[in-house]
Amino acid sequence: MTTLRRALFALLIVLSSSGVLAQTLALTFDDGLNPLKEPAAPSWNRQILETLHDAGVTSMVFPALVRTGQAQGLDLIRDWARAGHGIGNHTSQHRSLGSPQVPLADFISDVKEADAVLSRIPGWTKMLRFPYLKEGDTLAKRDGMRLWMQAAGYRAAPVSIDASDWYYNQAYAAWLDEGNADKANRVKAAYIEHLLDRAAYYDGLARQVLGRSPKHVMLLHTSRINAAALGELITAFRVRGWSFIAANTAFDDPIYTVQIDTLPAGESVVWASAKAVQVPSLRYPAEDSVYEEPKLRALGLVPTRMLE
Ligand SMILES: [Zn+2]
Repeated sequence: MTTLRRALFALLIVLSSSGVLAQTLALTFDDGLNPLKEPAAPSWNRQILETLHDAGVTSMVFPALVRTGQAQGLDLIRDWARAGHGIGNHTSQHRSLGSPQVPLADFISDVKEADAVLSRIPGWTKMLRFPYLKEGDTLAKRDGMRLWMQAAGYRAAPVSIDASDWYYNQAYAAWLDEGNADKANRVKAAYIEHLLDRAAYYDGLARQVLGRSPKHVMLLHTSRINAAALGELITAFRVRGWSFIAANTAFDDPIYTVQIDTLPAGESVVWASAKAVQVPSLRYPAEDSVYEEPKLRALGLVPTRMLE
């Protein structure tokens, strides 16, 4: 890091601790990577961890066994633990509790299967990140899961800022695969602006519904675009007045333990809190590719293979 950047970060830390800059943010990463399916996985994982280290950001990762596999992918997760990040549970099969095809008992067995493997990794935290942020399509599933978690000593690990990073990752990877680095870089720039926009949106909605800015938690994935963009992304947030806090500290905010009365259950906790008090014009799902595709299309950045 250059001396100038160090000085800038030091200034931002002073400003944020003095209360001039109010929004705080933790980064969390879902899914994990499997080197047996993606040869570049170790390199992307290393880039993400090095960037977090250089930026002084402590995160949490939520692996799903179907995404990591049982061998080298779990070694990559151990690297997160060695770097001081927390490890949570994102189930074994990455099925949605919001799907009518997934009974509660099957979902609980997915959680238990992942628990048996992940709880042996240092840094383990008994927290569940629901796949797709879906917490149940019926009252019986939603409340049945909440009761099971309480009895098992599990905490939910929701997010306040949800932002379809997976969609930008698909577009970014497709342009790189086509050898078009220019368009890939433009997708990356649009992605950073998109995250800033979504963060501002959820912070505004939180101030409207809760009357305050909570300790935000953002959902990201262990992906190629995040390996490439994370450093710029952290800088961009700091420049816009956000300061970073450790993920386990952010989860102390009561917004993450309140049981919100919505059905289907889940999404961002800010979105769900707004839905529960019937804030008008909330779209559902809160974030999805259907909202992002027209934006990238207008910029001429949707790769051909994603238009078919
Ligand atoms: Zn996931």
